[in-house]
Amino acid sequence: NPILLWFRKDLRLDDNHALQAAAASGRPVVPIYIREPEAKGCGPLGAAQRWWLHHSLAALDKSLHGLGSKLVLRTGDALSVIERLLEETGAEAIVWNRRYDPAGMAVDVGVKKTLRDAGMKANSFAGQLLHEPSRVRTGTGNPYKTYTPFWRALEQFGEPPFPIDAPAKLCAPGHWPLSDALDSWSLLPTKPNWASNFPDMWVPGEAAARGKLGDFIETALDSYAVERDFPDKPATSMLSPHLALGEISPARIWHATRGLPKNIPTDNIVRFRKEVAWREFCYHQLFHFPNLNSANWNDRYDDFPWRSDAQLFDSWRRGQTGYPIVDAGMRQLWRHGWMHNRVRMIVASFLIKDLLIDWREGEAWFRDTLVDADPAANAANWQWVAGSGADASPFFRIFNPVLQGEKFDSDGGYIRTFVPELADLDNKYIHRPFEAPDDVLRRAGVTLGQHYPRPIVDHALARRRALDALASLKNDE
Ligand code: FAD
Repeated sequence: NPILLWFRKDLRLDDNHALQAAAASGRPVVPIYIREPEAKGCGPLGAAQRWWLHHSLAALDKSLHGLGSKLVLRTGDALSVIERLLEETGAEAIVWNRRYDPAGMAVDVGVKKTLRDAGMKANSFAGQLLHEPSRVRTGTGNPYKTYTPFWRALEQFGEPPFPIDAPAKLCAPGHWPLSDALDSWSLLPTKPNWASNFPDMWVPGEAAARGKLGDFIETALDSYAVERDFPDKPATSMLSPHLALGEISPARIWHATRGLPKNIPTDNIVRFRKEVAWREFCYHQLFHFPNLNSANWNDRYDDFPWRSDAQLFDSWRRGQTGYPIVDAGMRQLWRHGWMHNRVRMIVASFLIKDLLIDWREGEAWFRDTLVDADPAANAANWQWVAGSGADASPFFRIFNPVLQGEKFDSDGGYIRTFVPELADLDNKYIHRPFEAPDDVLRRAGVTLGQHYPRPIVDHALARRRALDALASLKNDE
């Protein structure tokens, strides 16, 4: 009788240990994906990631067809769906790859126990991370709280397991169980179709992910360490949305950066691997601190005097703050469902420190709008910027949005792409239009307050206010 293969955040055939085990069992394989209730299992998915998921499931189904198989889609509580499918197919075994977010883990533990108690075989495998988070611990058995020793521990583990190739064929069952139609899940936006620009930027699916990895190594890895901070340069891998839904494994990425030609300086390779290891560190935090997206890792921040101001929050979301680098970032997020890492740090600092709006509001907005929304990386990075996270940037380090823009987008190319109303402004003023003389603005066709907003806060005053707020905490840094 058949074996069920449960796909979750591992929407790939390559380097997929559960798939390998299912194929090696010699039984007919029934690949399934379950749309679990919101807030359970894989959800809740943000709107942008639902767009990605639709296309990723379609791509996975196509790849499975290449193996003589297909993807069965079902909706509902994972355990009930699986029990029904076991009955319908006569299967007595199921395999899956582990996930490490608290909601997903809770579902998996329950499913495994219930099925095993009922005499079924339920086995899970590693593959979402380089190393199992339960294995990475300090000498005293505790989780790591800072990144550098965590990285050293990863180095001591040695290389992650070598990635395995997809099987050439899967044995099909004599009778396929019914599947939901993908379109019936309504994952794509309709009215309005705010994702209309996404296809210019993204091709979901594992084939595109592998292609992107190859292109990145060939064209950008050799200057990654220096150029990765400049948002106008195609200098980073753009693999994050593929990683978020598991279309490529971190082990595949890691091993692709081994044995490269000597013309790629080692510091670039190490730097890139260290970023992949940051993802790992974020999961390490989430694994040991399941409330990462709702509670301060450092409870000193629990009494922080956040302000609530719907109008300012809305200006930030819409990219109408009057600070061009912040607005460019927020509009890149609207247009492409993605934002450059340097700019994510700038816009997060602006929300938290210039507007004094709770980091959780920003985390939730990013979760809904990023195609790479990830429960670990998003929460950990927001807490990192807020100063409340593990090994965080101190709260008193407040980014000046003008100087950040001038340093990392000196010729304003990024601003001109995403804030076109400022496109004709001189480089001297592109990051500070509010200081431009009238004739310069006139020549550029910009009237502040009409074509482009005046700053919604004065950065110098906002900085002072943020430091006062910090000083009001009992255990000031
Ligand atoms: P590359 O520079 O090519 O890096 C390779 C991979 O390393 C990335 O794909 C990613 O998986 C990982 N990585 C790189 N930087 C980080 C980092 N700082 N933390 C964790 N992993 C990292 N990343 C997400 O994947 N999902 C999120 O929801 C997310 N939210 C963020 C929120 C804020 C406020 C900030 C400051 C950062 C956030 N990041 C998030 C991290 C980072 O911005 C993205 O991973 C990166 O921009 C993705 O681009 P890339 O794939 O080209 O990265």
